[in-house]
Amino acid sequence: MDKSYECQICHYLYSESTGEPLMNIVPGTAWDEIGDEFRCPHCQATKKVFIEVRG
Ligand SMILES: [Zn+2]
Repeated sequence: MDKSYECQICHYLYSESTGEPLMNIVPGTAWDEIGDEFRCPHCQATKKVFIEVRG
């Protein structure tokens, strides 16, 4: 069920199973649960720049 989402600018990968400690997002947090205030921790891009990666 875990999905990953990739920033199309810097190719940072957000994994739902890992979360993002840098953003205080705990492991298991679904992408849809993350607010629109989320920014890529590497390039500050918004969620709209991310695409789902099928593993
Ligand atoms: Zn990025």
